[in-house]
Parts: sequence; C-alpha cells; structure tokens
Amino acid sequence: MMRWPLIALALLAVASCARPTPIDNNAVATVPLRQCLAALDERQASYAQINAFSEGRGCGIRDGVAIRHGLIALDETATLTCTTALAVDSFQREVVHPLALHHFGQPVVSMELWGSYACRGRTGNAGRLSEHAFGRAIDVAGFRLADGTMVRVTDWYRSTPNGAFLQAVARGACDHFSVVLTPVSDAAHRDHFHLDTGPWPLCEV
Ligand SMILES: [Zn+2]
Repeated sequence: MMRWPLIALALLAVASCARPTPIDNNAVATVPLRQCLAALDERQASYAQINAFSEGRGCGIRDGVAIRHGLIALDETATLTCTTALAVDSFQREVVHPLALHHFGQPVVSMELWGSYACRGRTGNAGRLSEHAFGRAIDVAGFRLADGTMVRVTDWYRSTPNGAFLQAVARGACDHFSVVLTPVSDAAHRDHFHLDTGPWPLCEV
C-alpha cells in the first residue's frame, strides 16, 4: 500500500537522526522544504511561502506555505507546513479527482475547508496541542462539483452516491495522511474530515 513508503521514510528519518526530537515536532515523512516547494511548483499549485513563526505555548510553523489551490481549489487559503500542503495536493490528484469522476462523472472544483492552522488544544483533550497548532492538519467539510452541487461530509451515512464517494475518499485519504477522522470517529467529526500528517497514525473510516 501507499503507506509503506511513508513508514520507510519515517524510519529512515528516525535512524538518521542522532538526537531525539520532541514528538510534537516529529511529523511523519517530512519532505525537505526545497524539495517540497519544487514539487508544488511542478504541480502548478497556487501558494506563497510564509516566514517561520511561533506563538502561544508551542504553536507555530517552521516550513510553512499559504496555499489556495493544488489540483483543486480550496475555498479559503490554508496555512500549512509545506509537507502537509503537498499531501493535500496528492490527495486531490490521486483520490478526490478520480473518485469524483467515477461516482459523479464530473470533477470536484473546490474543497470547503473548516480550518487549517490554529493555535489550540485537541478536541476532547485540550491539554495537548492539536496538530492544527503545528500547521499539520486540515478540516474538510465538503466538495463542490463542477455543476455546483455540494457534497457535504454530513452525507456520510446516506446510501447515495454522495455517501459512497465520501467513504471512498476517506479510505483513500489514509494513504496520504497519518490521521483521518470522519463521522465514525466521534460527534465532533460528524460534519467534517480531519486530515493530518502528525506522528500518530489513525485511519478511522
Ligand atoms: Zn481538525
């Protein structure tokens, strides 16, 4: 599966790193910045590099970008690490786009986001910082098709093309993100997917 290269890269990173790294700064399979930016350029993503910043109790982004669209537009600019932005584009290319053509016969033209970077604690465990606090997470609430139809994550349980599409998209997301939370996870995720590239693998679909 697609996850093996991620795991191999993570193991390689651990093996080649002489001193231990705090777990919250140890994202899975981080792509070196120059390589990551070159990949976004090659894919003609619309983005701007942002300066490193930190705030609050450990929030911040080192190798960040503000991305507006990869293959598919985002309905708001997302502030993410470059690695996470690249994962979003790969997810759009290899999962969202082909599945939209398969289920609806038309492409997705934009993804509705409910946030990216945010200096905050985890849902249900505010004592630990969320992956959003490191720019490694994105929340997706819906997918707009070329004909204007909105496929919302709230359609997850419906026995319709929308439900089948959403469940297939979430399964595919697990090949590109280490964490995928969906309506099966908990009530907090009944209306959006949480996708992150943090160090704790969890595929809940
Ligand atoms: Zn989230």
